[in-house]
Amino acid sequence: MPSLNIHRNDTVKVLRGSDRGKTGRVLRVFPDKGTLLVEHVRVVKKTVSSKSGQRTKGGIAEQESGIDVSNVALMCPNCGPVRVGFKTEGDTKVRICKKCGQTLPTKK
Ligand SMILES: [Zn+2]
Repeated sequence: MPSLNIHRNDTVKVLRGSDRGKTGRVLRVFPDKGTLLVEHVRVVKKTVSSKSGQRTKGGIAEQESGIDVSNVALMCPNCGPVRVGFKTEGDTKVRICKKCGQTLPTKK
């Protein structure tokens, strides 16, 4: 199974696209597609129709849509948006900031 170097609850900065410059928390990751849902990024307004048989009311719903993982950078607390490196601590592989070397823990 492919894994991404960005995980849920990470804070990322958008590097490309219409939401460039925004930062947000990662809500979901889709490793098989290589995309992420980031809070307040690529929000699309969906018209929800109230067809018969559906319980939802008609109206406008706002929902984040996926952004490609290559279009965002993980935020390092010291350096800002950085590239992610890896090192092994005991049996676990941890992510590090490629700039300052700080460990970037995965938040649960
Ligand atoms: Zn750093």
